[in-house]
Amino acid sequence: MGNDLLNVLVDKAFRRELPTRSEALELLSDTHDLLEVVAAAARLRRAHFGNRVKLNTIVNLKSGLCPEDCGYCSQRLGSASDVLKYSWITPAEAAEVAGQAVEAGAKRVCLVASGRGPGERDITRLEQTIAAIKDDHPKVEVCVCLGLLGDGQAERLAAAGAHAYNHNLNTSESRYADICSTHTFADRTDTVRRAGRAGLSPCSGAIFGMGESDDDIVDIARALRELDPDSVPVNFLIPFDGTPLEGRWELTPERCLRILAVFRFHFPDVEVRLAGGREIHLRAMQPLALHLANSIFLGDYLTSEGQPGVDDRQLIADAGFVIEGADEPTLPAARHDLVTVRRRGAGTELPANA
Ligand code: SF4
Repeated sequence: MGNDLLNVLVDKAFRRELPTRSEALELLSDTHDLLEVVAAAARLRRAHFGNRVKLNTIVNLKSGLCPEDCGYCSQRLGSASDVLKYSWITPAEAAEVAGQAVEAGAKRVCLVASGRGPGERDITRLEQTIAAIKDDHPKVEVCVCLGLLGDGQAERLAAAGAHAYNHNLNTSESRYADICSTHTFADRTDTVRRAGRAGLSPCSGAIFGMGESDDDIVDIARALRELDPDSVPVNFLIPFDGTPLEGRWELTPERCLRILAVFRFHFPDVEVRLAGGREIHLRAMQPLALHLANSIFLGDYLTSEGQPGVDDRQLIADAGFVIEGADEPTLPAARHDLVTVRRRGAGTELPANA
């Protein structure tokens, strides 16, 4: 009986239909054996992404001293975490750090800066930084993550050659005020939508292990699906000392895998990225997670160290996967085709689609 539901969910996902709330909740419960859930979701991952794993790298352009108060963040207002604090690194420094990761196999560089959102000078800095990275590595995908965007800023980043913009929803709308008082869930969805309207590939995900219920997990997945992101980072809380969530270790490897499976069923043909906290929460179960996620971060996170790159490359090879090449498209062709810029009909010399 149990397998019947999993088969139904796989068939629905191939049609890009969402699981119902009760079906998604069942995946998080112990109704179905963990390995059966992973195997079912892995069929979607295999069908859309083969055995490829995309590598991404983070460059923290400006660390700490943020005026916002996100409870999970070691860079937050008043954080007592003993993390690196520095103001903007130069475009040349960013290009050097990014280049090391690209040469080690990273296909996407994520340029991140702490803060509520960028000022005009910050956008100018990013324009220079993107140019410096692209000069050395023209094919690399550049994703920018600068917080809340104002009018015209996404357009400037797109014109400068940014491929994507990341802004995570982090948790469910109903819990948002519990983790942050300085901005709202609606502020976050607004920025993801601004990025998409400017032609930037929307990247938005979540953090788990912050006291969320199963219903919250389903709420987050559904809220993200409404934004139609191209990539969805799934983070597991790194409970830094000196933050309000210090010492919170509520996740198990099984819980992480079930969350990843729920996300794969909600995002069958979208880049699901295994992000911060994978090493400390999945531990020896990381290889199984590669059957659900098709993308990981290589190297270090914003303020904490990831496992050595050599270990990640070994992990990928041992689990039977290969690193995605710079010339290979990440998303399946059918997904690219979902948004095709109109080049025919009104305003062109070509006949309309009729
Ligand atoms: S998550 Fe971003 S906005 Fe929130 S405190 Fe950390 S750096 Fe600031």
